[in-house]
Amino acid sequence: MALRTFDSTALVFRLHESAPQLVREVLLERGWMEYNGQEQEEGDWNLYWRASAFHNADFTNVLPWQRLNHHPKTLGITRKDHLARNLKRMRCTFGSALYNFSPTAYILPNNYTTFLAEYTKSRLRDTGKSGYWICKPVDLSRGRGIFIFEDIKDLMYDSPVIVQRYISNPLLISGYKFDLRIYVCVKSFHPLTIYIHQEGLVRFATERYNLSSLDNPFSHLTNTSINKLGPCYRTAKERVGQGCKWTMNKFRCFLHSQDIDERLLWQRINTIVTLTLLTIAPSVPFSPNCVELFGFDILIDANLKPWLLEVNYSPALTLDCAADVTVKKDVLNDLIDLMNYKKVDVLRQKGYQPTYCQGHVSPSSTITPVLLRPKSKSLPRQQSNNPSSLHSNVSLPFLQQKQINSPDSSRGDSSCSSVNFVLISKSNAVAALGSEGGHFPLLKLPGSVTQPDCTDIEVVMENKRVLPPEAKQNSRHSCRCLCKLPAIYVQKYRLPIFSWRAKFQESGNPPFRVGGFILTFPFNEVTLKASKDNLNVKIAVQEVHKLLTWLASPCSHKMKRQGEGVLDRGRKSDSFPALFWGPKNLPLLSDLLHHKVIKTHK
Ligand code: ADP
Repeated sequence: MALRTFDSTALVFRLHESAPQLVREVLLERGWMEYNGQEQEEGDWNLYWRASAFHNADFTNVLPWQRLNHHPKTLGITRKDHLARNLKRMRCTFGSALYNFSPTAYILPNNYTTFLAEYTKSRLRDTGKSGYWICKPVDLSRGRGIFIFEDIKDLMYDSPVIVQRYISNPLLISGYKFDLRIYVCVKSFHPLTIYIHQEGLVRFATERYNLSSLDNPFSHLTNTSINKLGPCYRTAKERVGQGCKWTMNKFRCFLHSQDIDERLLWQRINTIVTLTLLTIAPSVPFSPNCVELFGFDILIDANLKPWLLEVNYSPALTLDCAADVTVKKDVLNDLIDLMNYKKVDVLRQKGYQPTYCQGHVSPSSTITPVLLRPKSKSLPRQQSNNPSSLHSNVSLPFLQQKQINSPDSSRGDSSCSSVNFVLISKSNAVAALGSEGGHFPLLKLPGSVTQPDCTDIEVVMENKRVLPPEAKQNSRHSCRCLCKLPAIYVQKYRLPIFSWRAKFQESGNPPFRVGGFILTFPFNEVTLKASKDNLNVKIAVQEVHKLLTWLASPCSHKMKRQGEGVLDRGRKSDSFPALFWGPKNLPLLSDLLHHKVIKTHK
């Protein structure tokens, strides 16, 4: 059997069996190595990818160099009934003028009487017709168990479902219904930081839209899993072509060809994404090692109003056609870029290289890195019979620790206690302290450390718990303390494509663009402030509302004053030059609002 050569400098990914093959392909292409539980230590990986949810323990045991591809507690938008309930709650709080982007929905059997009342009311109002309804099982996906009905006598269900108003006037392309799959990355919930990818998918039904055949899934449902089994999948359909997907870019060309002013459409979608995420953001625990890729399904009606159909927890990453290859590979690569890994993760390596910690450091070194291990983890496999076992007898001669009062110490999940580490050189130079402004500070080790890439080391610790006295006395024991959660919300990110001005780079703001991912929230200084510390949902909602209203009514004088309010904060100091997500050539949001010549950033 051929032995696998293990490159200890490579970044390591760990895939759950449910994880998509594309993740493996993309990461291997980027030079990562796949985690092998037989050969590697338990925590010796940088990214763990699961299609399904993580266990609570995965979140609490995460190590400083590790990332997980899901945030905890996002079911509030990814399960159909929870989404309906949460959007209803937000509608009651912030008004139906703003939270009006999801078709009215009833959770059955619980809301059956309310549904019946609404159904009857519509029937009386519309001379015997109640309109069309769609019934969906709350916890199924890919179109399974869905049906459309007009008459309540056709409503049958044997598990919890939602019954939703069927958008019966969708925008059609050559008679075919479609919806949009928008890729949204929530890099962090605290502070709320949302990116939307410029690419996405347009998913077509493969038979012409026809309200007189409600039971034809190929005419009414746009799920690929359904349509690829349809008789017309391979047929070259008028304008749509073969198959059932377009890239978002192709859709933009379609909009141009129809002379449609797309800006309001994009901003409405953008608003839907932010307002939906705001429904759960305050209740998602602080978890800076997590990142999430959501798939938002948006249907556009004949009046160009976008509707939110659902939010997908693990959007499909299978490659069925050319559009999938173009879009999904880019989305994944950009997502990895957003996670901001260095070429070499020195922190993880230090965790698994005792020789370095045992003093094989050049005399010119002034700082010895911390070795971090989870409190509860068992000793690594093979430690006793493997002389080179990575954790054995590690000594940390120059490590000192102390608890630091940080403004963040009161936040977050109390079960996630951790300690601050302060690295102190022989000459007592403090390398990092506390945290600041809702972000964790970065520890930059001085360039005099001789290990390759050490200048790239970024260590961030959260202080949540006082060290036990014995740990204070014995630095070896300190290795066992639970250290967790460095921010992946980094301040110095080198953009792969878009280089923004140095002053913004240093401002600590999230990058405005990473590959095809465009920062959509925060989008000005007010929302930046509202997103930090304790997320101020009210202010965030107000700003989103202002922006949308302004874009929808650019000519009104009243609106003009409001719009100036939205802009001036960003424009006077030019300190938050957010891009406008959506159009092919990305204008600056401020230029768009001022109706100036649109500046583009390619
Ligand atoms: P699933 O998770 O099973 O994909 P969705 O809510 O995404 O469930 O619905 C599947 C498809 O049904 C959508 O892609 C869309 O084509 C259609 N659909 C769902 N809800 C509506 C609606 N309210 N109005 C019109 N079409 C809808």
